[in-house]
Amino acid sequence: MDIAETKAKYAEEREKRLRSDGNDQYFRMAENFEEYLDDPYVEIEQRETKSDHVDVAFVGGGYAGLVTGARLAELGVTSYRVIEKGGDFGGTWYWNRYPGAMCDTASMIYMPLLEETGHMPREKYARAPEILEHCRRIATQYDLYDKALFHTRVTELRWLEESQVWQVKTDRGDAFTAQFVVVGTGPLHVPKLPGIPGLDTFNGHSFHTSRWDYSYTGGDAEGALMEGLTDKRVALIGTGATAVQCVPHLSAACKKIYVCQRTPSSVDVRSNESMNADWYSEKTNEPGWQKTWMENFTKNMSGASDGVDLVQDGWTDLARRFLGKIAQLPVEERGDVVKMMEAYESSDFEKMDEIRGRVDEVVSDVETAEKLKAWYRQLCKRPCFHDDYLQSFNNASTVLLDTDGKGVERITEGGIVVNGIEYPVDCIIYATGFEIGTELIDRAGFEMIGREELSLSDYWKNGMRTLHGISVHNFPNAFRVQPTQAANFIANVPHNIVESAKTIAMIINHVRASGFQTIEATKEAEDDWQELLSGSMQMLADPSCTPGYYNNEGQPLPDNAVGYVGHPEGAMAYFKFIDGWREAGDFEGMSVS
Ligand code: NDP
Repeated sequence: MDIAETKAKYAEEREKRLRSDGNDQYFRMAENFEEYLDDPYVEIEQRETKSDHVDVAFVGGGYAGLVTGARLAELGVTSYRVIEKGGDFGGTWYWNRYPGAMCDTASMIYMPLLEETGHMPREKYARAPEILEHCRRIATQYDLYDKALFHTRVTELRWLEESQVWQVKTDRGDAFTAQFVVVGTGPLHVPKLPGIPGLDTFNGHSFHTSRWDYSYTGGDAEGALMEGLTDKRVALIGTGATAVQCVPHLSAACKKIYVCQRTPSSVDVRSNESMNADWYSEKTNEPGWQKTWMENFTKNMSGASDGVDLVQDGWTDLARRFLGKIAQLPVEERGDVVKMMEAYESSDFEKMDEIRGRVDEVVSDVETAEKLKAWYRQLCKRPCFHDDYLQSFNNASTVLLDTDGKGVERITEGGIVVNGIEYPVDCIIYATGFEIGTELIDRAGFEMIGREELSLSDYWKNGMRTLHGISVHNFPNAFRVQPTQAANFIANVPHNIVESAKTIAMIINHVRASGFQTIEATKEAEDDWQELLSGSMQMLADPSCTPGYYNNEGQPLPDNAVGYVGHPEGAMAYFKFIDGWREAGDFEGMSVS
């Protein structure tokens, strides 16, 4: 297929999937389906309510809360409290224990604090149990366990002007104060259900992949055979990154597994390998190696590579190809944006052609293979990597129910309806992802009230405003760990987390060491930062892409999305800037009192 034909096919497939309800097509669990949010992993323990004072309260016990706690502990700040809705540390890795869950980013750059903890990842791509264990290792090493309130949701953060502290209220009746608050709840922490008619009428068993019910399926997160499914017919709805990882396990266990597909994922080679101890010790003998590795990956992914690719995987492959194409251009054309975009486009077509070719090589049934091919540019949707997913469709147990972009039609008391045919099933598993395009405050589940009763939703009603993506004028002593208005387009999210944690810990340490009570972004500095950002590209992908959460489900961005941008020169420019800013030690643009 030539490029023009491929483009026409991409447009045709996109058209089938566009729908006017965008993000509203999904059901919010907290509204009518609360039981899907229950924690199947850890029992809720009774505890005393807290009404005391801490130096720092952190909302979220994932990587952000762990690394910030570690950095603060290194600086001697130990009066720290983490408020976490799960029953342990780990965040996404606490919840996502579905069989086959693993990290799609190389563990050398994805698992934070490897140097500090001395942990050597067991494989190039770590599996979920190892990552959860690493989270617990960090919490233990930095003494964070007795500082955590698990199974607790923050309901409000309110600045108390008189006492110059934050009041933290929770759904467990806590009402304590903190000099500083930090929010690091991650972008994908609210699971969602598909808006399929009849979902609430199903009489069989059902759950979301982020609340895997091993008491029903048998097996475990380490990948033991799910013996509870050997006599069961199961429907899995969704074929995103989660489904790609759990389908091989369902395929091995179920009597019948119906994989319900609306849009195929692009599934490239995984090639996981055990970590070689000699290689690892050679690569990690220089202090600061992990920072070097993280920066190298981010440089490669943002097209700013210096020609060295330490990680060498499917993520950097696209960047390598792109740079290869640029190198083939005549010297005078190498800075030409149009030529560069053409080079990028042609490497993408090549890559996607290979990925589609791989489906033909692996899947025996020609019709099934055709339906598993992804017709869009690779970064329109989250790229996937797996060596057993496509192979599963060669098993007699595994049936692909492709819906040609329409989705599952209906759910009945006894099964699912696809393309007019009812398939009776015992269990439905929703691999339908997490809220992302919804209002930030709705998703967070709590409001922040700053100076003079100003709420964060009001302050941001016309768009997000921050200084460096970290602090907000009118909200003193409050920080956020997240990439928007900072590194933004970042494939390795932990890179942003470790940098933000360091910045926040240094700011807090500065305030305390200098005997101040508050620090706050000034209006002028925040305005200047917005001015700098105004020239940058919006965070969401190409609107001509097939719908998905990368492009707001193909819908125009809401008016208040103006702030979804990053440093105009990219992630590495931001990291370089913020490093210089914090090392200067005067925290320019923030006022203290
Ligand atoms: P996604 O949002 O990526 O996928 C949801 C799936 O549900 C899509 O295939 C979607 O189809 C499908 N779907 C939605 N509604 C319907 C319907 N009515 N009928 C049929 N299908 C439907 O969720 P995931 O949980 O797979 O992944 C979420 C994110 O989590 C990833 O993008 C990634 O960032 C992260 N993740 C990371 C991993 C890692 O290795 N670090 C592993 C797994 C996930 P459609 O595409 O048409 O919308």
